[in-house]
Amino acid sequence: MKSFLFCFSTDDGCLDGYSTEAHLERLLAFCEEEKIKMTLFTVPLSFEKKSKTYSSILKNMISQGHEIGQHGLEHTRFEFGIPPEMILDLPHEKENKEFVRTHRPEIEKQLSVSVITSRLRNGREILEQNLNCKIKGFRGPCLSVCGNLFTALVLEKYAYDSSKCFQPGAWDILNNKKEIKIKPITKKDFDAAQVKGDMKTLPLTAEYTWYLEKDKLEITFDLARHDLDACIENDIPFVPVCHVSPIQEGNEPLLGFEFYRRLIAYGQEKAASMNKKFEAVTMSEACNKFFSKSQE
Ligand SMILES: [Zn+2]
Repeated sequence: MKSFLFCFSTDDGCLDGYSTEAHLERLLAFCEEEKIKMTLFTVPLSFEKKSKTYSSILKNMISQGHEIGQHGLEHTRFEFGIPPEMILDLPHEKENKEFVRTHRPEIEKQLSVSVITSRLRNGREILEQNLNCKIKGFRGPCLSVCGNLFTALVLEKYAYDSSKCFQPGAWDILNNKKEIKIKPITKKDFDAAQVKGDMKTLPLTAEYTWYLEKDKLEITFDLARHDLDACIENDIPFVPVCHVSPIQEGNEPLLGFEFYRRLIAYGQEKAASMNKKFEAVTMSEACNKFFSKSQE
């Protein structure tokens, strides 16, 4: 029986303003209720400033089978690349968008393989030494990427990267665009996202629950269902992303959870109807299962 791999990924672990202890505990309780595993991309320099309690939540998570991935170093906009257009179009990114427009060559110049490598190493070591775990995956802050980032990730032997994104349409909704451009997702896109070397790429589909508002619930859910259908039909892992606090801070605090409860139930039904096994796994588990299977 084929598997449908559902990877619940969460960004901004430890980042001030986006990841309180209480919100992380509530999100973990949600994962337990739904019997899903979480991959929490954590910001190393923010982690260093957190209390012992926060750190023990992360250690507990690992012992319960969740995964900690690396989310940049300090979570500044240009430490690992340049954010994609749809992110720079967000209202709160206005100044950064202007900065990219006027300073692109300077930004690119500081993104050498050696600078990126030392930033990667610095962040990874902070997480590995304090949490006593092996960091296998990376996601760029604000989905910032550049060619040298992928070269450095391969050199540093990361198992996977998840900075690339399949569905910019979700940001059309966030950016209040009149027309939402829904992008098809295919196996061809998945293969094209892979880079040279041993590292694998697991692109995320989109962020659906960023301060989700009630009046955008249905349109966003339709999009998520479209993306899930595309992944299951193309036999590729489904990787949505949410953020620790923002999923709980829309105009109705439980809306984000309600959204995912519905999406998980939908995914389970869809998988059953296609005679596939629904598996809610961490990203590195998905990486192992998916790529060992496709090499058979
Ligand atoms: Zn982030």
